Amino acid sequence: MDLQIHNLCKTYANGVRALDHVSLSIPIGMYGLLGPNGAGKSTLMRTIATLQDADSGSITLGPLNVLTQKQDVRRLLGYLPQEFGVYPRTSASEMLDHLAILKGMTNRRERREAVDAMLERVNLFQHRKKAISSYSGGMKQRFGIAQALLGNPQLVIVDEPTAGLDPGERNRFYNLLSEIGENIIVILSTHIVQDVKELCSHMAIINLGQVKYSGPPQAAEDALQGRIWQKSISRSELAAHREKYNVISTKLVAGRPLIHVLSDACPDENFLSVSPDLEDVFFSQVQQVV
Ligand code: ADP
Repeated sequence: MDLQIHNLCKTYANGVRALDHVSLSIPIGMYGLLGPNGAGKSTLMRTIATLQDADSGSITLGPLNVLTQKQDVRRLLGYLPQEFGVYPRTSASEMLDHLAILKGMTNRRERREAVDAMLERVNLFQHRKKAISSYSGGMKQRFGIAQALLGNPQLVIVDEPTAGLDPGERNRFYNLLSEIGENIIVILSTHIVQDVKELCSHMAIINLGQVKYSGPPQAAEDALQGRIWQKSISRSELAAHREKYNVISTKLVAGRPLIHVLSDACPDENFLSVSPDLEDVFFSQVQQVV
């Protein structure tokens, strides 16, 4: 089963064109949807999750038409939204039990087994009786994955899941995601390049509602081979360098700006050729906000 998106368009009532002829082919595995804030990721995620309509275009999940067969799609879908809203004072165990009933698991014993197994899987079993509102950020996100995975979905959508997690929590969450992405489609929407780098075999970069790249991350890096040049400069030289060269990113290393320039030839002898990484891919497609 794969997910095919063809020529999807959405313009909001205020005139913002959030999706501009988006076409993507998404296979089984972890798929990264990378874009800056405002790129259109949530709009796309909500449309795939049958929570919002598009103006035109099509989405199919295997044999299903996602835009019209919403109930059938929902049975195959797990969704971890960007904002869960208020976290309940209910325990994780009770909440999952309740959600499992909503997903149609009517047999009490089977439900209990499924809920316990899920809590084990996301490493929350020992905390299952505590209120979800008392959980740390990482625990809340793992609970979010548990509820998304109830009922064995074939398609799981996670929207900006690692924002606000500390490095340890993020690592644990990465491990969990990569495990679930082995047999089903998992779409990870994020503005964090590292999320995609660590997890995804396929990706798309979107900006201003348009697909800028789609394919394996490695192929995108390969395409920039020999064209990324690096130089450490002083702050006062920054403006002149921006003027003269195609500076795609600037970051501070020990307080000094380190710039990356995209150019087919060496810009000048003080630049060093560097091996492109996914951040270079991202910033070559999406203007860095400075
Ligand atoms: P992302 O998830 O990548 O940050 P969104 O899909 O949330 O992007 O937003 C894409 C664009 O659509 C943004 O310019 C945003 O301001 C606009 N937008 C999102 N939701 C609405 C809405 N309900 N009404 C009007 N504009 C919206």
